[in-house]
Amino acid sequence: MNLRRTHGAAPPVAVPPARSDVVVVGGGLIGLSAAWRLAQGGRSVTVLERDTVGAGASLAATGMLAPAAEHEPGSDPLLPLALESLSRWPGFRDDLQAASGLDIDYRQEGTLVLALGRDEVERLRFRHDLQKRSGLDARWLTGPDVRAREPRLRPAVTAGLFCPHDHQVDPARVMAALVQACLGAGVTLVEGCPVAALDWSASRVTGVRHAHGLTLADTIVLATGAWSGETGLLPDSLALPVRPLRGQSLALRTTARTGTLAHMVWTEQVHMAPKSDGHLIVGATVEDCGFVAGVTAGGLFALLEGARRVLPGIEEMAVEAVWSGFRPTSDDDAPIIDALAPGLVVATGHHRNGYLLAPATADAVAALVADGTLPAYARDFGLARFAKPEPARAFA
Ligand SMILES: Cc1cc2nc3c(=O)[nH]c(=O)nc-3n(C[C@H](O)[C@H](O)[C@H](O)COP(=O)(O)OP(=O)(O)OC[C@H]3O[C@@H](n4cnc5c(N)ncnc54)[C@H](O)[C@@H]3O)c2cc1C
Repeated sequence: MNLRRTHGAAPPVAVPPARSDVVVVGGGLIGLSAAWRLAQGGRSVTVLERDTVGAGASLAATGMLAPAAEHEPGSDPLLPLALESLSRWPGFRDDLQAASGLDIDYRQEGTLVLALGRDEVERLRFRHDLQKRSGLDARWLTGPDVRAREPRLRPAVTAGLFCPHDHQVDPARVMAALVQACLGAGVTLVEGCPVAALDWSASRVTGVRHAHGLTLADTIVLATGAWSGETGLLPDSLALPVRPLRGQSLALRTTARTGTLAHMVWTEQVHMAPKSDGHLIVGATVEDCGFVAGVTAGGLFALLEGARRVLPGIEEMAVEAVWSGFRPTSDDDAPIIDALAPGLVVATGHHRNGYLLAPATADAVAALVADGTLPAYARDFGLARFAKPEPARAFA
């Protein structure tokens, strides 16, 4: 059983146009969000997706918008961008729901991070100190406080953190809404259309080559997710330090009898996210195994064991779907949003935060295409930050 969620809407166009103001390569969350914002800005936009929309990481995600729960040592440089994007989510949600006529299940109950036993409590205190030093709102809860919020959790839960501003969306609904919003804004969306090469004229990118020929454009936006680091589309001098990190997840069906959770719940082993359609998503493994797709017994066992450790009621829940996807992960786990050459913009490397970062990324790409500059909040996320320092010269 490897049931993948789908965006549920078939784009109507089968052949790319000969010309478009902007071509977005990759029909994932980042490509569609950027395409939608660019089309709203008055540009003709074509999205070319080699598979189906969302077939990369985007339909595999849980949909957490959780900068506080995810904050850990080393993630300080990403935090301002994460908080900027979180603050854009309510506007993004309102626009997207109005444009698509679809509800994206934006839920605001907040997130609980749990500890069981003394060692985990110690590590949770360390996490809480880090959150406080970074100005994040996270509140310490005793075991009874936690169970007052979530009575179905085991009594073994010793302590918790409540992160009231860490929200969530349903990825399948967001992707369905983005498809509708893009189509409504006039975006041409072509599935089953791998881009084989960029078309260059001197140092400028002027179009993309695919099985139907050539589509010319003023700007190409590469939003190819975990595949952005593969050789082929970019010359070696512009190679992107992006690799896939596999994540396996599963969806459980909750009923009136099994009950469900009210909040997103994190432990050191798993996260669990209740969706309004009755699913409880349990995720996610983090595996550095290249592009090896699929789910494994070990991955599912770890997820189920991690979930049962805090929520015994999962034993009665039906397993509705299992899946895996590839997080697009850069060498510093932060995105790459940049103009790589005249006519060529890239938006990739969103790792485990694509949903959180989508509103800010889409607006940054739209600004970069319109004005040639990134908004201040995105300027630290260019490719140049990975440049190796020149070797020191020896002077005689
Ligand atoms: C298990 C799991 C759980 C996650 N949970 C969360 C979460 O809770 N919150 C959160 O914020 N993020 C989460 N993420 C991360 C999030 O899913 C990603 O960061 C985000 O989806 C990346 O979007 P993308 O559009 O860059 O990439 P993708 O969705 O991978 O899209 C890239 C697309 O490009 C296409 N493509 C590649 N090459 C070509 C080509 N040559 N021509 C045409 N098309 C091409 C691919 O087919 C693909 O559809 C999770 C990821 C995983 C795997």
